[in-house]
Amino acid sequence: MPLRAKVATSVSKTAAALSRAAGRGDGSVIGGWIGLKIDPDLLGHLAAGRAIALVSGTNGKTTTTRLAAAALGVLGPVATNSFGANMPTGHTSALAKAGATPFAVLEVDEHYLARVIDETNPRVVALLNLSRDQLDRAKEVAMMAQMWRSALAGHPDVSVVANADDPMVVWAARGSSHITWFSAGQRWHDDSFVCPESGHPIERAGGDWWCTGCPLRRPQPQWRVEDEGVVDPRGDWHLVKLQLPGSVNIGNAATALAVAAEFGVRAIEALPRLSTVASIAGRYAQVDRDGRNIRLLLAKNPASWLEAFDMAEQAPTLLSINARDPDGFDTSWLYDVDFSPLHDRPVLITGDRAFDLAVRLEVNGIAFRHVLSFEEAIRSVPPGRLEVIANYTAFQDIRAELDRVN
Ligand SMILES: [Zn+2]
Repeated sequence: MPLRAKVATSVSKTAAALSRAAGRGDGSVIGGWIGLKIDPDLLGHLAAGRAIALVSGTNGKTTTTRLAAAALGVLGPVATNSFGANMPTGHTSALAKAGATPFAVLEVDEHYLARVIDETNPRVVALLNLSRDQLDRAKEVAMMAQMWRSALAGHPDVSVVANADDPMVVWAARGSSHITWFSAGQRWHDDSFVCPESGHPIERAGGDWWCTGCPLRRPQPQWRVEDEGVVDPRGDWHLVKLQLPGSVNIGNAATALAVAAEFGVRAIEALPRLSTVASIAGRYAQVDRDGRNIRLLLAKNPASWLEAFDMAEQAPTLLSINARDPDGFDTSWLYDVDFSPLHDRPVLITGDRAFDLAVRLEVNGIAFRHVLSFEEAIRSVPPGRLEVIANYTAFQDIRAELDRVN
């Protein structure tokens, strides 16, 4: 590495360590920020010589990144931004901290994918899904798909691993010359009713979809979920034993296996490593408190709420909503979520914007009770499971009350 990059790496690691020591989080954002101030090309220097996979999409990228990093661990040490800092500052910090590893798996915010592809020259890019997110700042879904498509067009050597079930992802990836398709399902269809190529309606039947006005249609996936397992490109079925709940996570495992296969890792080698992942920065964590088994589910946009309902058991459920800066200030997306799956269980609500949620639940015909704190929620339910579904900062608040559970 050039001298400037070496100095920048060293200062970046020191700043991150100081920030951690001061109790200001994990320090990855400030560490990366300082490193990039000293050497604007630092991310490229740190990426050089590593075989890299990037993982992007609206939902599931933190979990899929963690699973893919676990799978690639078969081959050797893997650098990864496991704290979810998914912009170039976080990538820089993660690579600086990891030292010289042969591999890296990086979660990338969908808006930064083009820049991170340019700077890190990845071997593989995994595209998970695109749906509406943070209405006051995120790009429209069709614009994101166009940005991805342009980004990939400039890098014909990249292997793309993409979700065959999401028409927007298929359209974005389709121009690439080396594509592996996986099928991980798509619960949320409201952002892909119209063909991004021709503007005609998209029809769906079973798991299939096709445009009614042009040739765009669902490609045949090489990797797919079947029952509690994954079918590989040779047609062999593998049982997937995860500690993470729900069919959504079997889909994330299928994606991770497809990514790892691009590096030569066989499913049979990777699967035991996937089963060791218990929770990711508090997501899916289970904590026992006062006889209650509390499970934490993060949901931050309409598609991820649908997935959380699918994962949650039929048990008392606490919903917590904030609208602070990391969450986005606009809560009107609550009206995009159908809360009716909760009609058969006791529902508690809390958070800064609990009353926005209250109005939404009343319109949806869901009975609920408002509680002022997480402690009150625990006291309000009988011993046994309490499911907690919260958006970003609400999740972090509850995680802090549980002593920063991982
Ligand atoms: Zn079309």
